Amino acid sequence: MGQRSKEKELKGVIPGVMLILRKFSPYIREQRVLIAGSFVALLVETGLRLLEPWPLKYVFDHILIPAHNNVKVPNSFGLNPIALLTLSAIAIVAITGIGSIAAYMSTYGMSLAVVRVLSEVRANVFDRLQHLSLSFHQKSKGGDLITRVTADIEKMRTVTVKTALPLVTNVISLLGMLAIMFWLNWELALVAAAIFPILSLLTSNMISRIRKFAKKHRDSEGVLAATTGETIGAIKVVQVLSLQKMLQGVFSAQNQKSLDEAIESLRLSAALERAVQILMAIIIAVVLWRGSHVVLHKELTPGELLVFMTYLRNALEPIRKVSTQIGQIAKATASGERVVEVLDYEPNVRDLPRAQKAHPFFGTVRFENVSFGYDAGREILKNINFVAQPGQQVAVVGPSGSGKSTLLSLIIRLYDPDKGSILIDGQDIREYTLDSLRQQISVVLQDSVLFAVSVRENIAYGKLGATDKEVEKAARLASAHEFIMELPQGYDTVLSERGGTLSGGQRQRIALARAAIRQAPIVILDEPTTGLDNASDRIVTAALEKLTEGRTTFLISHNLRAVENAEMILYVESGSILEQGTHKELMGLGGHYATLYRLQSIVDETGDAYAVKA
Ligand code: ATP
Repeated sequence: MGQRSKEKELKGVIPGVMLILRKFSPYIREQRVLIAGSFVALLVETGLRLLEPWPLKYVFDHILIPAHNNVKVPNSFGLNPIALLTLSAIAIVAITGIGSIAAYMSTYGMSLAVVRVLSEVRANVFDRLQHLSLSFHQKSKGGDLITRVTADIEKMRTVTVKTALPLVTNVISLLGMLAIMFWLNWELALVAAAIFPILSLLTSNMISRIRKFAKKHRDSEGVLAATTGETIGAIKVVQVLSLQKMLQGVFSAQNQKSLDEAIESLRLSAALERAVQILMAIIIAVVLWRGSHVVLHKELTPGELLVFMTYLRNALEPIRKVSTQIGQIAKATASGERVVEVLDYEPNVRDLPRAQKAHPFFGTVRFENVSFGYDAGREILKNINFVAQPGQQVAVVGPSGSGKSTLLSLIIRLYDPDKGSILIDGQDIREYTLDSLRQQISVVLQDSVLFAVSVRENIAYGKLGATDKEVEKAARLASAHEFIMELPQGYDTVLSERGGTLSGGQRQRIALARAAIRQAPIVILDEPTTGLDNASDRIVTAALEKLTEGRTTFLISHNLRAVENAEMILYVESGSILEQGTHKELMGLGGHYATLYRLQSIVDETGDAYAVKA
């Protein structure tokens, strides 16, 4: 790495911290009373820490040295030596006692403020992640995002409480010590102060490197978490395809990379700490050598030199720690930047400033010249136009990858069109608030995801605040009530992750109940019976008929027999609607749909293993 980029890295820590503070400032402001109170306690603690060596100075200069030299000197307080000695002893205990109480208050208060701020930040990151558009999540690694919510915030918490706050105390007490040292003897103080520029030269380079490796390490940990998450999430596929060995290889390589980076940052931290220690020893030796000369020239009393040396020794520990602490802060800054990154992402699908809560829909859905692509330069949907009337059943058919799911995902605004608009009841759907739009649309996908909560909650997720009665009614409508009652705890049975313990048909019927409970005027069904056996298919299809009655329904299906009765069929190929009409009209047209339908009929009749899919 070139010198210039090293400098750039170094300069990154302070702006990094400032950026994080600025981003978190609304949460910090909420804790300002607690922070201010703790800061006052911190100042008291620091002030008392500065007083610590002074009783010793008085005992030395006014009692021990005169006694040693057999000189009787009246001390500055007009006290006899024993009284001064007693007072000094009491002062030592009092200074430490009060200082400890103040330290306790400042540590507790600041820690409380930090924990409160970070738990608010964490809640906001989680909220942001939930609202970020699908396009963001499809490009991100789930495990990496999880690390940002958990480990990165935890890192910031521990480092702020255990490192940054003590660092502030140390810096304030260092400044105080330096001021008193200059007051005692400026020449000697200058020698001692020389440590700061030397130290900053030494540390700046190291710190930027530590920060670089720490950021790399955290990113690698995110990659590791993502790989683990993906593997466990797809464990069935991994085992079926015997991918374990290959994935182990990938994991091991990532693991090694993460370890190498961790070791490098630890090595640099250790090197930095030792270098600072040696430097401090040199400074102490120089000050002692020069200080003794000053005392011999009677420009300083032995007691004052004692205070001086005590400050220097006391300063050693904080200064030695400062380098480690800055290293730690550099690491936490890397974590903080990762958290801020998430907070800075703006969901590209969001409420417009003028968005209004939608009225209860009648259910007219109109596509006007809609074009859309996931990536710039590759249009997936091209100039789509159609109108679905309230209560109409619309089937969307066409070859795999033609854009059917994409088309329907635009109605619930998982993505927004690049050109044209989609209107519900005559109004662009971007004019409605996202929540009020989505609440009026029920969606059933091919492989519906269930949550690891009870069956009752899974169904009630379709309509927040649903009563038990509504849940049961929806389950009956979805033909799910009977099998749910046979589960060990009925509606209270907690499902395993993703509903893994249920059959495909059962999972789909719970998903149907979840869709039914909404009683939404618009229903979207994306191949809801694919993958089900004949018996389950029949049950789910019957349930679907009940669910969609009187509602504007969009159904994607590869089985053209299932869409024969639809009031409108859209035949989509390569992102365009090539044919549009009823089954009868399209058969009469003798185009793509008719050809595909005839092919499927032959397959059905002959039972050909090579099924022709729409
Ligand atoms: P199928 O019947 O197989 O489900 P489909 O007709 O529903 O297919 P879509 O899922 O809408 O097709 O996909 C249309 C095209 O968009 C495909 O070429 C697919 O590769 C692409 N595509 C789908 N999702 C994304 C995505 N998140 N990012 C980029 N491209 C995508």
